[in-house]
Amino acid sequence: MREFEQYIDGRFEKGQATFESIDPATQKPWALMPRAGAQDVDRAVRAAWRAFADPQWTGLTATQRGKLLFRLADLLEQAVPDLAELETRDTGKIIRETRAQIAYIAEYYRYYGGLADKMDGRYVAIDKADTEAYQQREPIGVVAAIVPWNSQLFLAAVKLAPALAAGCTVVLKASEDGPAPLLAFARFVHEAGFPPGVVSILTGFGEDCGKALTSHPLVSRIAFTGGPETARHIVRNSADNLAYLTLELGGKSPVVVFPDADLDSTVNAIISGIFAATGQSCVAGSRLLAHRDILPALLDRLSERAKTIRIGPPDVMQTEFGPLATDRQRRHIVDLIARSLAAGATLVTGGQVPPGFETGFYFEPTILLCDDPQTPCLREEFFGPVLSVLPFEDEADAIANANDTPFGLASGLFTRDLARAKRVTARLRAGIVWVNTYRMISPLMPFGGFGLSGLGREGGSEAILDYMRTKSVWVRTSDEPIADPFVMR
Ligand code: NAD
Repeated sequence: MREFEQYIDGRFEKGQATFESIDPATQKPWALMPRAGAQDVDRAVRAAWRAFADPQWTGLTATQRGKLLFRLADLLEQAVPDLAELETRDTGKIIRETRAQIAYIAEYYRYYGGLADKMDGRYVAIDKADTEAYQQREPIGVVAAIVPWNSQLFLAAVKLAPALAAGCTVVLKASEDGPAPLLAFARFVHEAGFPPGVVSILTGFGEDCGKALTSHPLVSRIAFTGGPETARHIVRNSADNLAYLTLELGGKSPVVVFPDADLDSTVNAIISGIFAATGQSCVAGSRLLAHRDILPALLDRLSERAKTIRIGPPDVMQTEFGPLATDRQRRHIVDLIARSLAAGATLVTGGQVPPGFETGFYFEPTILLCDDPQTPCLREEFFGPVLSVLPFEDEADAIANANDTPFGLASGLFTRDLARAKRVTARLRAGIVWVNTYRMISPLMPFGGFGLSGLGREGGSEAILDYMRTKSVWVRTSDEPIADPFVMR
């Protein structure tokens, strides 16, 4: 079995404890991963704390920090085939998705590398005589970054890139499920020339490694992506320390289709919105709200397309749909489907392990039709390939149903009526609205949700400010002696 190393304080090391990583396509263990405990976390955080005061890092200009990020982007780009293969092996995500996604991740490092030396302070025309006042921006300190198993390199990039551009130091915890690509990525951080301790990358389980990291007193900011329940633990873990928080959590994103929508495009967007990444995507368009008039035609096309999606081994380029990442995930999906059927949902297609794919954590692309908005499949996150469909009568009904969720990450809206698109967009309670499209992302656009979908935004120019704090500087410019202190000026 291949053995992976963790990266702490500029050194690669085997774990004192290890655990086996399972290949989701074969269900066989294929690699040994270091299992970081509280001591490893403490070493990494202390190294980050030292690096944060070390002239090797603090002495770099912002322009030089940006250049390090450009170098990292180049190294990442050259390694796309290897990293994609590792991610596919360790998470089951299909190779055509991992290749395309990792190639694009380089753009995030470039974007924030370019921003590094553009974060000017502010001169204040202060209302005091003989005084100059200005605000300067400084990096916030040690950042704890925690990611879930899906798209780990991407979710790490949206934290690492702005944090490093700002001048912070980072301890990054990969998920215990599928950590191989992030542990391998550490090699490029090292080669790019970041001084020791500026970035440490380790993995371990939530209850020990994750808890130790998010409750560490030397951590100033936590950037977390994962589920809402874990987020609540993290809020509690960080309470003593009052660390700043960014929380990117789950979703139950609605896709609203009006009768005037272009059916061909809409079907393709819905299929990609729910079945790409085998549905294991926080922005999955998992609730389809379709106008009653268009529902039968739409459902026919969707179920026809869902049945012809090419299921196969994730490392084969032709495969369109691979296994789920873990057996735990599949059991959760099976249970939620069963509860939804018991509550009155109808199975349109899927719902089984696909014939011929009994080995591996495979599950068919599935569509459920509901008529009660309270059906469990319309309320709880599957984080899997299940589309739950609910008809609506009119625009007001569509908006009410779309917003009938504690989540608020993404949403999709399909109509050719521009006035309606603007009206509905304004009323959707979601951090992202895609109009006549779905799943678009870019380093230039903020990403994040309302309500239980989290706090803060990642991506876009403002995200770098999350990793900076301002210092207000007052400078007395007069040579005159300071007047009597008991007279107010
Ligand atoms: P999870 O919350 O179980 O785990 C995420 C990470 O948190 C893992 O690294 C885990 O080890 C760690 N963790 C677990 N318990 C912890 C604790 N007590 N303290 C600190 N860290 C702890 O999530 P998951 O099941 O791996 O991922 C799926 C979830 O992530 C879904 O809800 C999905 O919607 C969400 N997600 C959100 C986004 C987004 O950007 N909004 C992106 C991808 C996934």
